[in-house]
Amino acid sequence: MSSTIAAISTPTAIGGISLIRISGDNALVIAEKLFVPFGKTPVSEMAGHTCAYGRIVYDGETLDDVLLTVFRAPSSYTGEDTAEISCHGGLYVTKKVLRAAIALGAEPAAAGEFTKRAFLNGKLSLTQAEAVADIISAEGDSALKSANMMREGALFRDVKSVSDRLVELLGGLAAWTDYPDEDIPETDPATILSALSECEKRLEKIIAGYDGGIVFREGVSCAIVGRPNVGKSTLMNALLGFERSIVTPAAGTTRDVVEEKLRLGDIVLRLSDTAGIRETSDGVEQLGVKLAERTAERAQLCFVVLDGSEPLTCGDREILKMTANRRRIVVINKCDLPQKLDREYFSDDILLEVSAKDRLGLDRLRDAVYEKLSLDAGTDAGVFVNERQKNCCDRALSAIRESKSAISAGETLDAVTVCIDAAADALLELTGEKATEAVVNNVFERFCVGK
Ligand code: GDP
Repeated sequence: MSSTIAAISTPTAIGGISLIRISGDNALVIAEKLFVPFGKTPVSEMAGHTCAYGRIVYDGETLDDVLLTVFRAPSSYTGEDTAEISCHGGLYVTKKVLRAAIALGAEPAAAGEFTKRAFLNGKLSLTQAEAVADIISAEGDSALKSANMMREGALFRDVKSVSDRLVELLGGLAAWTDYPDEDIPETDPATILSALSECEKRLEKIIAGYDGGIVFREGVSCAIVGRPNVGKSTLMNALLGFERSIVTPAAGTTRDVVEEKLRLGDIVLRLSDTAGIRETSDGVEQLGVKLAERTAERAQLCFVVLDGSEPLTCGDREILKMTANRRRIVVINKCDLPQKLDREYFSDDILLEVSAKDRLGLDRLRDAVYEKLSLDAGTDAGVFVNERQKNCCDRALSAIRESKSAISAGETLDAVTVCIDAAADALLELTGEKATEAVVNNVFERFCVGK
């Protein structure tokens, strides 16, 4: 018998509706004790996937009018009996309902425990469960699309087809070595080699989804750099559409690094407006300048901002030198003023001429960013893999390469088998078919409580 768990599944904030989820063998018993239906059907007689209107009464006190939805095992998210109580959104009411459920015997759910139960009950594969976490945190369309594809099992199928092939190879090898008396044909090394190469190619393709995944899932860190007063803060504000950084005509006002997220088409830019980079004697500003240099060094992309209404200064040249080997876009600001900046200097750069103050020219930014990051704006998201999944693929890939060299070196089939075995193991860990408890726990720790 499984314990019964309960949690608030909606965010802990004030809203129109909050949902309390109770799952486990006693979920419906607890719901029955809490819920007084307005209709005639008691909870014990409600069919799965039905909903009833009524009120929550605990200890003689009416807490709220609610909707109760009943799911019966195994046809629920967790695979267990589940009750979901939708009450009015107040935090106080919601917590009182949860406390009542706990007083009646439910245990507070741990982070991700509902989804973990779904996995343990065979409702989801590990990669599908991870996709649920990704959907919750997705910030761009591509990340969401990819997470949805993963939830539908696309990654699982890709990886499974490779692990199936490996297991099949292992079966052939084992049959031949374990039953020498039977008339089983020896697996010919050339056939194994070509099957392994096929697996290698498919894994390489899956791993390629990692880099794209990072960009789409976590966004791109992007530093706005330039000497003081070229309009960095104004640009940041224009991009974000609201005032975030302090804008003043006095140079050197942005002393720390200000961070904001900007959605640009399918991706999220994590913008940081840095202190103007220049030689300075002011201690605080010096710190800001150091921080700006470091932010620019670490960022995946730099917007180097120049003032188009002035000739290039030594400071500008310094910054251009500092970012010469970085992925950068040169933004020539203040195009609303008469132009004095020599554009010849930037033959190899993507140049954007804008007026941050009047918000002119910003619409070309998206294409420039996509071009610089070598992303194709038109294509659909591939299946992205996360760190854990990539790690499994990497291990499988190197084991496959080892098996190939073992074959080429003419080693015994036993030695080859050991390597192929390791490759298959890594992939079975990825899909969760052979994951240790530690791996499974680690996956679900990323979730929020209530999911
Ligand atoms: P930062 O030090 O690089 O962050 O520069 P700020 O954003 O604080 O801007 C410095 C000054 O330039 C302010 O007075 C802005 O109003 C002005 N400024 C910024 N962008 C433009 C622009 O596109 N056109 C004009 N004419 N002035 C601008």
